[in-house]
Amino acid sequence: MDRMLSADEIVRGLLAKEFSAAEVFRSSLERVRRMDPALSAMLSVTEEAGMAAARAVDECVARGEDPGPLAGVPVVLKDNMCYRAAPTTCGSRMLERWTPPYDAAVVTALEGAGAVILGKTNMDEFAMGGSTEYSAFGPASNPWDPDRVPGGSSGGSAVAVAAGYVPVALGSDTGGSIRQPASYCGVYGMKPTYGLVSRRGLVAFASSLDQIGPFARTAADLARMLSVIAAPDPGDGTSSRRARPEYGAAVASASLKGRKIAVVRELAGMKASLSPDVEGTLARVLDLCRREGAEIVEVSLPRSLEFGLPCYYILAPAEASSNLARFDGVRYGFSRKERTLKALYERTRGEGFGPEVKRRILTGTYVLSSGYYDAYYLTAQKVRQLMKEEFRKAFASCDLIALPTAPTPAFRKGELVDDPIQMYLADIFTLPVNLAGLPALSLNGGFTADARPLPVGVQLIAPQWGEEGLLSAAAVLERHLGPASVAPMAAVKGGDGR
Ligand code: GLN
Repeated sequence: MDRMLSADEIVRGLLAKEFSAAEVFRSSLERVRRMDPALSAMLSVTEEAGMAAARAVDECVARGEDPGPLAGVPVVLKDNMCYRAAPTTCGSRMLERWTPPYDAAVVTALEGAGAVILGKTNMDEFAMGGSTEYSAFGPASNPWDPDRVPGGSSGGSAVAVAAGYVPVALGSDTGGSIRQPASYCGVYGMKPTYGLVSRRGLVAFASSLDQIGPFARTAADLARMLSVIAAPDPGDGTSSRRARPEYGAAVASASLKGRKIAVVRELAGMKASLSPDVEGTLARVLDLCRREGAEIVEVSLPRSLEFGLPCYYILAPAEASSNLARFDGVRYGFSRKERTLKALYERTRGEGFGPEVKRRILTGTYVLSSGYYDAYYLTAQKVRQLMKEEFRKAFASCDLIALPTAPTPAFRKGELVDDPIQMYLADIFTLPVNLAGLPALSLNGGFTADARPLPVGVQLIAPQWGEEGLLSAAAVLERHLGPASVAPMAAVKGGDGR
């Protein structure tokens, strides 16, 4: 059986009784066993629970019942989503052995749809980072070139889809953590509108920015996943109650005729920091849009591109410093017993958190402290409002905005790990989207001409609740570009050649 089936194909094959969910699950497991020692995308593999879920799907099919829209589809979860069958480490020593007593809303939704959870994926500690190198359990590798990073913070989920362990995965995106690794690994990744997907059971990083979203190798699979996870949830105060469409329809009727796709004027002035491959790929994708009947227009986003990054690096750490205060050695996970409470806090947090998380907590505490609050936090909130306004104006004259996902293809391991500012710059095009609460996706637009070709992503941004427009555009482009490819196993030690 072909292991690289899409979710669509798995569901169809299962219903046609061409194979069983247990067989699909076993072949996914086998691929993980073979490739993950070299790629380190997985932090845990839930073989027993997965096999039980696969068998339940098979019994459901045998009884002639509807096994659900993700029946038998193996899926992995970023390790910041609570799942009772495994620890939720958030890539941190702090939660190394913490197994949650409940499931995240998205986990319940996936299981209800018949999906089979294969395990939890590697990530930058508490989702802070852009390379997966800040994982306390060691970095994941890019399957296109294992000397390079897969991006982050949802790097493990992107790798699992790009290396063909699973057709679909979940990640979380606070400032680019789904789109940037999707771009580096050559797969689709979508960050939905803030409030579309419930975050109940997602360990919070920056609550006004966090969203869960899917990775996939086809636009149809992205839509299938989104339809399952995008449900209103009274258990998440920020979950919108508006009715959700069935997103598959947008893919089935995909067209770009008469749609206005905007390029961003300020990008021309940023050429020095853009790799020529990124520029060329964006131009190529825009050309395909034009050939499909889209009109290419221009919008201006000066504030978002200039102030998005500083604004994010005030607000996200501020929220993180407050969200991470709960990890104090008393209630969750790692704890260092000491004679006084203060010493317990100090040792637990001193040893439990890694350097990037500490940097964020310190920055966040600083910008919230009295005397600095107005100058930093309050000012950044005002700038955020202006950015929202700027996007609103831009969308008055276009349907979608096209930008690079990241300024360069995947960088080398170790290249930026000691240079936080350069690492932060990898998200310059994705952060403004979170600050404005908008939906966006990254699709693979092509590859570099290197001896080991690296994927290059293109980002499409839509107005609030514009997921259907994004999926429709992605589906049209997929007709030209093809579905995302699985990275050639020969590139990976333990792959083809073994
Ligand atoms: N790379 C960004 C950061 O380090 C975004 C992370 C994210 O989206 N979770 O904060």
